[in-house]
Amino acid sequence: MTKPKVLFVGDLDETLEEYLRFKEHFECIHYKLTTREELIDKFHSEFNDIVAIYGAWLGFHLLGGMKGELIDHLPDTLRVIAICSVGHEQYDHEKLAARGIQLYNTPSLGAEDVGDTVLWHILESFRFFKRFETRAHSTGHVIEARRQLQTKGYDHLQGKLGVETDQWLKNAFPFGEYAGGQLARSPFNKTCGIIGLGRIGQCIAKRVQALGMRVVYTQRNENKDSSYTYEPELEELCKQSDVLVISCPGNDSTRNLVSRDKIDLLPPGCKVINVGRGFVIDESYAIERLQQGKIAWIGLDVYTHEPAIDPRLLNRCDVSLTPHMASSTKENFDATARYALANIWSVVVDAVEGRSKVV
Ligand code: NDP
Repeated sequence: MTKPKVLFVGDLDETLEEYLRFKEHFECIHYKLTTREELIDKFHSEFNDIVAIYGAWLGFHLLGGMKGELIDHLPDTLRVIAICSVGHEQYDHEKLAARGIQLYNTPSLGAEDVGDTVLWHILESFRFFKRFETRAHSTGHVIEARRQLQTKGYDHLQGKLGVETDQWLKNAFPFGEYAGGQLARSPFNKTCGIIGLGRIGQCIAKRVQALGMRVVYTQRNENKDSSYTYEPELEELCKQSDVLVISCPGNDSTRNLVSRDKIDLLPPGCKVINVGRGFVIDESYAIERLQQGKIAWIGLDVYTHEPAIDPRLLNRCDVSLTPHMASSTKENFDATARYALANIWSVVVDAVEGRSKVV
């Protein structure tokens, strides 16, 4: 008996028990995207009888998403696309629905991991551990490492550490609060404003609360089960935030949500962290405010022009960058693979709806 075919776009751990079981029932075709033309051609030849597509993390991003004419060329046999990511903005919902193709995403199984990444960005923004650590390695000397950073005159425009010293600094004991012209601060008792207290936002909230920060959040609906302070107006949240964290989805309702006027409401010295989607904030204007010294720190995992990173962000001392890997742990990679495989199984084998249906 011929097995139904499933197209795998992107990787998974092929030693996973769930995948081995899956392979007993399905013919699994692993394909590396090249060009739109080649893919369209294959939809009419080699892939013309696939019943499902497994979309790993990048999905069809390299071809500009599963949108437009690409959907017109999908074979009639295709019933389901199951993707490993939460974000599904690269899939055209209406066109897929019109073709009768179901789309399933995977909820943030890695929300705790994203919480850890945000915690790292926040700690860096207050304490500058990385620059101290670098000097601990290069000097091999506790006091000398701290003395090298006991300077003034941080250059906001270039994002470069200050090198000025005065008589007092020269003589003073290097305690470690000076960090190249910036002062290491404690997050304790400061306010963390969170945009989107969903699965990820809640993981962030509990971590920063453990730092002794006050948590305020905004989103469209108050979370009545949460004890964190709800602020319905984004403007008000911005005014209160020593750290602003973006952890809401990227869609039409959130595009440019943190616009220029909202950025201007942030208190001087505010730190801005984004793990939602790049285009939720006017990233370009936020960089300008950083260069003017109005924003003290930008920590990003997601970028407006992803996969490219705005060159103005690179090699600055007041920026922490992670390359969209906030949830990238082996545990999460496998968990999302299992989830997407299970959705294909539900639809094709059990003929029932899977979990987390988008369309
Ligand atoms: P959830 O669906 O659990 O939570 C999303 C939250 O955002 C909800 O509380 C929702 O509340 C709020 N929200 C939605 N729309 C708006 C809006 N217009 N204004 C303000 N708040 C809004 O999602 P997750 O927490 O699991 O994930 C959130 C996003 O994080 C994902 O969509 C994805 O873009 C991103 N992500 C990033 C990762 C990374 O590696 N950097 C990994 C995984 C996810 P309400 O509906 O009441 O407004």
